[in-house]
Amino acid sequence: MKIHEYQAKELFKQYGIKVPASILCEKKEDIEETIKNFMFPCVIKAQVHSGARGKAGGVKIAKNYQDAVKTANEILGMELTSKQAGTKKVNKILIEKAVDIDKELYLSLTFDRANEAIALIISNQGGMDIEETAKTSPDKICTQLIKDNFNPLQTVKKLGYNDEINSQIVSVINSLYRLSKEKDALLVEINPLVITKQNEVIALDAKINFDDNALFRHEDILALKDEKEENPFELQAQKEGLNYIKLNGTIGCMVNGAGLAMATMDVIRLSGKEAANFLDVGGGASSEKIEKAFKLLISDENLEAVFINIFGGILRCDFLAEGVKNAIQNLNIKVPVIVRMEGTNKEIGADILNHSGLKFTVVKDLNEAIEVIKKI
Ligand code: GDP
Ligand code: MN
Repeated sequence: MKIHEYQAKELFKQYGIKVPASILCEKKEDIEETIKNFMFPCVIKAQVHSGARGKAGGVKIAKNYQDAVKTANEILGMELTSKQAGTKKVNKILIEKAVDIDKELYLSLTFDRANEAIALIISNQGGMDIEETAKTSPDKICTQLIKDNFNPLQTVKKLGYNDEINSQIVSVINSLYRLSKEKDALLVEINPLVITKQNEVIALDAKINFDDNALFRHEDILALKDEKEENPFELQAQKEGLNYIKLNGTIGCMVNGAGLAMATMDVIRLSGKEAANFLDVGGGASSEKIEKAFKLLISDENLEAVFINIFGGILRCDFLAEGVKNAIQNLNIKVPVIVRMEGTNKEIGADILNHSGLKFTVVKDLNEAIEVIKKI
């Protein structure tokens, strides 16, 4: 789960990381009142779950009151298009005291799964072009695995600052590490972490991704979820206990089991098409759950066909067939539906579909499925 910059900065403050003074604004009619007593110059920042807001026109410096009101009105409500997150409407802005930047650093803690450790990543070439730096001069980016005798100073010294700055950076790293562990974050990132002309180390940006599987033990974090930022289909799926991820292809798939879902996406690829989604209905799905999953699946506008690939172990094929039949009867589906069932009661399942009076293509195996999908 992602949160907004302003929320992440509140957490930073709790952990002793310095951030600029700021104030949040959510309504156009509140802009003038909010800015009236604020400090100038200030920075107006779009609060959307996206990186690269600066390049997309979502972060702007304002010199004085008039300028700030004008800029805030431009950014609040704008449609922000970034490479990372597509187009998103800006529903909140953060107004922040501008800082005199001397240096922009990059700092993050993330998982290095191959080494089974959290990795500290730091660079003195932070800011809006960090991706470019990573490509063209990877030597400018220092990485250290956090193992038993973790000593960030060792890495921080490589950046070439004085002891006073180094100790401030180390303190930020230690706080960030504590936050990451205590709140079960998958990524904490500060880009830029700045050194000001007054030699203060301040977090100008803040990004945190939390582990969804650990949210049950962090009510405070879960309360920060902004449903407007979530994909509406994915949100719906979460509420119904379905594992659904929206993708960009045209073949909707409904599968039970994550491994089978991956294999199914490969099969779709082999037939020259792309999957429209990942949908795992799980082992013990009922026919009602299948019906809900199916409805969700076909609400995708890009759909050319639906491919149902089920291994009937705990979920019996006749339950599946019943659920799919009900869903289709109620829904007036225009695209072809291809079904491959294997396992418990597959003959009964096939019978239910074949005698439903509805149009299904029941295939006997994956090879036949590939042939059918190819012709769509
Ligand atoms: P992002 O583009 O979504 O990562 O948004 P950031 O919060 O990182 O802001 C983008 C850029 O705006 C930063 O890299 C800074 O160069 C600039 N910026 C942000 N806040 C300030 C500030 O207080 N003073 C100055 N001079 N520049 C700022
Ligand atoms: Mn940034």
